[in-house]
Amino acid sequence: MDLLSLVSLATKRRSDFFSQAKTLARKYKEQPRLEERMKAESLGLVKGLRDKLMRWEEYERTLTDKTLVSALAACVLGIEDDATDRKLEKCWPIIVGDMLPPLTKFLAETKEYIDSGVLRLGDQTVDFADYDLLGAVPGAIELDVDEIEGINPEEEGIEEASQRRAQGRSWPSLAERVSRYLATPTFAFYNLGQYMVAQDQGFKEMRRVAKYDKKTCVDCRNYDAQGWLPVGELPMPGKGCRCYDRCRCFIEYR
Ligand SMILES: [Zn+2]
Ligand SMILES: [Zn+2]
Repeated sequence: MDLLSLVSLATKRRSDFFSQAKTLARKYKEQPRLEERMKAESLGLVKGLRDKLMRWEEYERTLTDKTLVSALAACVLGIEDDATDRKLEKCWPIIVGDMLPPLTKFLAETKEYIDSGVLRLGDQTVDFADYDLLGAVPGAIELDVDEIEGINPEEEGIEEASQRRAQGRSWPSLAERVSRYLATPTFAFYNLGQYMVAQDQGFKEMRRVAKYDKKTCVDCRNYDAQGWLPVGELPMPGKGCRCYDRCRCFIEYR
């Protein structure tokens, strides 16, 4: 499906997504738990497609819906107050703009893999359970920290294809990539929800605090070093840094 049709379909169902997101947020209560849940759902979804439990159209629709609902649920968790709907309305165009363009490409690419037989439906030669999925992708080359930088979900697909990593044992790597739409972005959207609150409460300044572990990239360290700045002058976690959805900087307000 092309991007415009996807966006207009999604927009029609917006209020439905909002209520699903609120239910999801009530159920999982904290962003890390939501992220864990969505990792598991990424795996379930890809297994469902591989094992022919769902047709392509259903996979496409489910992945799109879950991407939006999961992002909205993360915003709800960040918002934490009663003006949820009004703030969700402000988050919505950001979610759509961030997620649907790369998702459309990702889906088209997956479909191509299936049509060309790179991904074989019904292929059970790889048991997902044998791998610590979403940590290590079988067949993947262990990348150094420097090499992890600069790989967003889209580039990851291109790189994977060029290294022929998608050959043969590629279903688990597809699950890993799906989780970069369903699971890892929840952190950034949780922060987006908090940002909406901080704006409403009239906070004047923000700072971006880097995690300072081995994986923290140079961009994140630079934002951290800038200290307190007027609200709105620093990008949200995952934006403007080469960690992308894997960024775990947090934002403080005062
Ligand atoms: Zn970074
Ligand atoms: Zn970061």
